[in-house]
Amino acid sequence: MSAKSAQKKITEFTCIVCPVGCTLNVTVEEGNNIKVLGNKCPKGAEYALREVTNPQRYAQSTVVLLGSKTERRLPVKTDKPVPKDRIFDVVKEIRKVKVNVPVKVGDVVLEDVLGLGVNVVATRTVEE
Ligand code: SF4
Repeated sequence: MSAKSAQKKITEFTCIVCPVGCTLNVTVEEGNNIKVLGNKCPKGAEYALREVTNPQRYAQSTVVLLGSKTERRLPVKTDKPVPKDRIFDVVKEIRKVKVNVPVKVGDVVLEDVLGLGVNVVATRTVEE
């Protein structure tokens, strides 16, 4: 193995942007030069670059629901992905929230969580 090839890091994963599910081969070379192979469209390359440099995920959880006759908890999620290494902190903040009925899908239950520029929204409507 040459010194040059030892400085490469190759990662393989499946693109989850659409149902096609292309297998992406990502090579990170010396100087952080990133090459993506296997993508059938530019979205796959963008996804691969994000996964390698700043992986992000949507956070999902539930909050306490007050005043409902039928539900005790309300499912919620972030309206944008958050850095993967902050998901645990975001879920901890979500767990502190209590919401009163009525609540509709898309209602913001927590604004700008941890200053990340991301809101937490309801994923279910509960009228009473
Ligand atoms: S690379 Fe493009 S076509 Fe392939 S799974 Fe990703 S988004 Fe779909």
